[in-house]
Amino acid sequence: MQMSVQVNNLVKKFGSFAAVDDITFSVQKGEIFGFIGPNGAGKSTTIRMLCGILDQTSGEGTVEGFSIKSEPEKIKSVIGYMSQKFSLYDDLTVAENINFYAGIHGLGFKEAGDRKSWILEMSGLSGKEGCMTGSLSGGWRQRLSLGCAIIHNPKVIFLDEPTAGVDPISRKEFWGLIRGLAKAGTTIFVTTHFMDEVEFCERIAMIYRGKIVAMGTPSELKILNKVDNLEMLFVNLIRGME
Ligand code: ADP
Ligand code: MG
Repeated sequence: MQMSVQVNNLVKKFGSFAAVDDITFSVQKGEIFGFIGPNGAGKSTTIRMLCGILDQTSGEGTVEGFSIKSEPEKIKSVIGYMSQKFSLYDDLTVAENINFYAGIHGLGFKEAGDRKSWILEMSGLSGKEGCMTGSLSGGWRQRLSLGCAIIHNPKVIFLDEPTAGVDPISRKEFWGLIRGLAKAGTTIFVTTHFMDEVEFCERIAMIYRGKIVAMGTPSELKILNKVDNLEMLFVNLIRGME
């Protein structure tokens, strides 16, 4: 089986506080892997280490075979990262934002044009190229953010709470896009604190206080723990720890 992300005993400490506390997991190529946990659980810190933005304290990780420790620059060329505060320029038009990200990733003229058409189509923004980005609704902004984050057609996409602050219909549409990308072979690593979004993931890890407390497919976790919903499982697990 081909692995896209592999993490062994990864730890991140801030001072003596372990924000990520000895986690081990792997994600297959083309899989939608969800990282679920409450605020402060360590989701963003994990993503930042995997994207090569933040040094780990100990442990190992690879993304598409590249080491997070010694090859962070190589990792940056094969991943797309949409952070919680992904920045689009509100005072630029939709097309200008896309052009800007095409430039950052050094896309050639032809490729930039092709990817721009794809993003406009994918995000439902065709015909709105000239609109000011600041005037777009939450759902459109989010899809444009996704497009800009993956303009270079990365092999792995890291999405950090991509649906926060977006209406339910846009959230559903967004997950449709994510599923399409995964079907085309892109690996998706996504964090959320919306329990209802867990069902969109093929496999999930529940993270709490820096530790993975459960991992598996949503139905596996329900069957094994004899619960109807995963929120109940999570609450029970957390209670057991406290
Ligand atoms: P999540 O994304 O799951 O909400 P984070 O990974 O952002 O959680 O944070 C995990 C914990 O680490 C939190 O307690 C947070 O306050 C702490 N933390 C995150 N970044 C830093 C930092 N740069 N310095 C100190 N503590 C941090
Ligand atoms: Mg976070």
